[in-house]
Amino acid sequence: MANKLPNSCPKAKKCGGCQLQNMTYAEQLQYKQNKEERFLGRFGKVNPIIGMENPTHYRNKVQAAFAYDYRHRKLISGVYQSGSHNIVPVDDCMIEDRIADEIITDVRKLMNSFKFTAYNEDTGRGFIRHVLVKRGFTTGEIMVVLVSGTSMFPSRNNFVKALLNLHPEITTIIHNINPYRTNLVLGKQEKVIYGKGYIEDKLCGCTFRISAKSFYQINPVQTEILYNTAIEYAGLTGKETFFDSYCGTGTIGIIAATRGAARVIGVELNGDAVRDARSNAKRNNVENINFYAGDATRFITEMADAGEKVDVIMMDPPRAGSTDEFLDACARMAPPKIVYVSCNPETLARDLRYITKKGYKVDAIQPVDMFPYTNHVETVVLLSGEKVNGHIDISLDTEKLENKTGTATYAEIKAYIKEKYGMNVTTLYIGQIKDKVGIKDRKNYNTGSGNGRVPNCPPEKEEAIMDAFRHFNLI
Ligand code: SAH
Repeated sequence: MANKLPNSCPKAKKCGGCQLQNMTYAEQLQYKQNKEERFLGRFGKVNPIIGMENPTHYRNKVQAAFAYDYRHRKLISGVYQSGSHNIVPVDDCMIEDRIADEIITDVRKLMNSFKFTAYNEDTGRGFIRHVLVKRGFTTGEIMVVLVSGTSMFPSRNNFVKALLNLHPEITTIIHNINPYRTNLVLGKQEKVIYGKGYIEDKLCGCTFRISAKSFYQINPVQTEILYNTAIEYAGLTGKETFFDSYCGTGTIGIIAATRGAARVIGVELNGDAVRDARSNAKRNNVENINFYAGDATRFITEMADAGEKVDVIMMDPPRAGSTDEFLDACARMAPPKIVYVSCNPETLARDLRYITKKGYKVDAIQPVDMFPYTNHVETVVLLSGEKVNGHIDISLDTEKLENKTGTATYAEIKAYIKEKYGMNVTTLYIGQIKDKVGIKDRKNYNTGSGNGRVPNCPPEKEEAIMDAFRHFNLI
């Protein structure tokens, strides 16, 4: 692991991409661990963050903005200076894939020798705007996307030939046309000018198609760790229905289907991603899977209204986190497990605060460093709702119920009822009646039905439990 400060990047200040530039990698990991503990420590033990063996050059998707330097009469390429439209020239970046950087530099040199111009948003004239390179980490396939402001591509065939000559490892080249005044890199229209128009990569044993526009995690080494952790937390045995919400191109759900989920349902807002998810499922011969385009909150609320059940809810929302309505529906569906993958510990903490009030408890918190040198950190959290579902942990037996005048453990209540009525009552039933009459657990466990679910405790047992509550002065 890199403990020495690497040669710090001369462009760091202007670029602003690597906020933790001036820390060693060990210090970065400690910084992220502290951040996680600050936000999430109150929910349970935060496992040590999983860092990278080699924390540099991990980005397998690299893009550069192009502009024309009129003074020196040549094209320049790099990143926008933070908060402005000026380009900071960058040829090699410590977190970007080396080959991708070399290709972009050579594209620029070639374009200069072809006397290409850069697109000017104000005049609507000129050619190149951006170059985007994606590289399949395990397959080595490389896609180059040339984004221009106008659709005319001068000397196209000669340019492609010259580029392939320099970089025969390129497997596909796409010409994307973006004539709009926008911060988005890619426009709607694209032409495949070399190869098949997409690349493939492997993650956790599955193959995924990556097109110019599709979302794909940018750090494949750590993504495998993240996904493996999330799927291990799901505890699949071959019988489970697995709900992959905010599923993107379906990666987590597809891997889950090959690792023991009996059935997978995925939902995602972005229609293009859903199309990719469906073709990814086909590519991996996964049939027990359905993807739906739509808002995750609406979708899960309808599922809960219809009384549908799933065994695992996987959720991987964007930085803003999920919604209270989504979490309400989770609690109504009451799956034994929820696995929350988050890229923002702040909104994660907000959502955990909400869902733990509904009877779920946090069983594991695992941070993963997906983006060394930046201040981002990813987290996987396992929540179990066994108490919601009725498979109650025996250890609760020693937990105390109390009010102003009396206390009793679950075990004492059970023993009292067994002796007086010859009846066995479960912790779940006690929990349900406790909730119904509003008695608090000492640790404020929510063992009961909560969540608007109707207690299913039989009336004679309810009577006996009420009697026990009176006996112990709890009501
Ligand atoms: N699980 C995927 C994607 C995670 S990124 C992966 O690991 O690759 C979060 C995803 O949530 C994005 O694909 C985004 O388009 C999607 N999203 C954002 N808001 C949404 C909403 N309201 N409903 C459903 N999906 C949404």
